[in-house]
Amino acid sequence: MRIDILTVLPELLESPLNNSIVKRARDKGLVEINVLNIRDFAKDKYKTVDDYAFGGGAGMVMMIEPVYKVIEKLKGERVYDEIIYTSPDGEQLTQKMANSLSLKNNIIILAGHYKGVDQRIRDHLITKEISIGDYVLSGGEIPAVVIADAIVRLLPGAMSDEQSALSDSFQDDLLAPPVYTRPADFRGWKVPDVLLSGHAAEIENWRHEQSLERTLKLRPYLINKSSFENDSK
Ligand code: SAH
Repeated sequence: MRIDILTVLPELLESPLNNSIVKRARDKGLVEINVLNIRDFAKDKYKTVDDYAFGGGAGMVMMIEPVYKVIEKLKGERVYDEIIYTSPDGEQLTQKMANSLSLKNNIIILAGHYKGVDQRIRDHLITKEISIGDYVLSGGEIPAVVIADAIVRLLPGAMSDEQSALSDSFQDDLLAPPVYTRPADFRGWKVPDVLLSGHAAEIENWRHEQSLERTLKLRPYLINKSSFENDSK
């Protein structure tokens, strides 16, 4: 898989893409992640990538031409399955969306900045707009790494079996059960007995019950969703 991230602030992406699971996946060759600086595609010597908004008002707008140039260059080199724009008004990122993006070969993620990118880029070049939640951040760099991380950890081989993505929250419309490690008794705060029992089946049951309980309490709509899906089959 190949992910190209387009940004005016490449420094912001560095650490999250060079640590932990994402770093390992890159080192193992499971994913190639390229960060392209949109400024390199600016035409003036000041590397200008923003301009005033037509119609006035506060805030600058990401210019159309440098973004257009970098996307056209990439599209000339290979076929992209998705050209994503990060935007608060986009479709909200979910595990399901991450799962389906993890099956693609080549994707571009355009990180917005300033007041956002010229609408014509969105109208003509973007194939998918993703929000990471109903709040506004200073730029699309953090959303871009959130999206990349959610995808990359799903690639086969990115995680060891013990870390398996399949047991994470949302994969089966259930939240993950609580986890504990040594010591079994910390100043009287005890680990549930069943986890120390060595009975694999009982542990599995307990975990499933805890998952159900947590989901009912914290994300009840997930339960309704899965029981609705089962009923309608
Ligand atoms: N004026 C815009 C927000 C600009 S914030 C509006 O009101 O919709 C600057 C950039 O940060 C946006 O262009 C977008 O790329 C990114 N961004 C901010 N919040 C985001 C979110 N919740 N999800 C995805 N991208 C976001």
